Amino acid sequence: MKVLVLNCGSSSLKYQLINTETEDVLAKGLCERIGMEGSAIAHQPAGGQKVKELVPMADHTVAVKNVIDKLTDKNVGVIASLAEIDAVGHRMVHGGENFTSSAVINDEVLKAIEECNDLAPLHNPANLIGVRSCQDVMPGVPMVAVFDTAFHQTMPKKAYMYGIPYEYYNKYKIRRYGFHGTSHDFVSKRAAEILNKDRKDLRIIVCHLGNGASVSAVKYGESVDTSMGLTPLEGLIMGTRSGDLDPAIVSFIAEKENLTAAQVVDILNKKSGVLGLSDGLSNDFRDLVEAGAAGNQVAKGALDAYAYRVGKYIGAYAAAMKGVDVIAFTAGAGENNAEVRAMIGEYIEFLGTNIDPERNKIRGEETILSDEGAKVVTMVVPTNEELAIARETARLV
Ligand code: AMP
Repeated sequence: MKVLVLNCGSSSLKYQLINTETEDVLAKGLCERIGMEGSAIAHQPAGGQKVKELVPMADHTVAVKNVIDKLTDKNVGVIASLAEIDAVGHRMVHGGENFTSSAVINDEVLKAIEECNDLAPLHNPANLIGVRSCQDVMPGVPMVAVFDTAFHQTMPKKAYMYGIPYEYYNKYKIRRYGFHGTSHDFVSKRAAEILNKDRKDLRIIVCHLGNGASVSAVKYGESVDTSMGLTPLEGLIMGTRSGDLDPAIVSFIAEKENLTAAQVVDILNKKSGVLGLSDGLSNDFRDLVEAGAAGNQVAKGALDAYAYRVGKYIGAYAAAMKGVDVIAFTAGAGENNAEVRAMIGEYIEFLGTNIDPERNKIRGEETILSDEGAKVVTMVVPTNEELAIARETARLV
């Protein structure tokens, strides 16, 4: 089956066409600046050159048409016609409590997704626009919604409730949901496979350390806790997001800087994290490691705070699961940044991880970092959210 995987943002659209029998990516690309001046599509067929073109794209429907044009193009295309696309898998950010797994898209499902728009006002409407655009451009092609939140719906109430008046949960569904679920599910499954074990027999901590970052506790196959909350702002210090902080800081900064609460939250999302902690130097861990090695104390401080927070979460989740068997690092920094992994490694050594510094040098490959005989197996497992979405789509269609 050929599945088109789409990830629609408010002004962007990322895509991959995946053959789900071979699990090969046939082509991938990105439409940027949709609805703005200078919109462009970058498209790359497997094994071929990447092509980038400036194309006016007034909305997502035009963007989807451009994607189809590229996929069926005589020179850079990989399929003869639209009819070869068997299904579309959409990445959906928030499924609230309405979705505990992926769903085939129909009117009822769309209505249930819309009900969650309040919970992710920036992401969900954009995801829905992507669905509607596909319905326009390829009517009749089955579509599946795969939610970032669904995998974490197994969290027990004690893990997802905030210590605030209960009425806010009843009235507004304010609770912890967690994100990156597709990745936490994929990586925990793959970690068990690599170890030749059943995920149902393992307590796994997955550290998804990308620009956005979260940790999850996957106990015997189910997510029982994760560090992101109502929104992706909670938890770890991230590239540009603050992660956990004293909520009183919001009104404090608002008053001192003459800002609204929404403006402060925007700063916590976009100008904080290691970018903020490094005094604006960078949100990219490569830059911070390089600057830190060159003696930049502010960059080093940002990395120290980052690694400390990840280490604390791992400790907390070992307690939450009353033990841990496997710790898996994934996403940009988790897969590729040996320095960051080594810094985190120092905090979790006491669990019996025995990370071998030689093995820890790898980048982006499935690798067991621990010595043989380690009490807790620590590993790198590259994530692949697009493949996970394609698999889910094929399964449901
Ligand atoms: P992601 O959001 O998963 O794309 O992750 C982005 C983060 O991963 C950035 O902060 C990068 O510094 C880090 N990263 C990506 N590739 C590498 C690499 N080859 N070496 C070190 N860090 C990397």
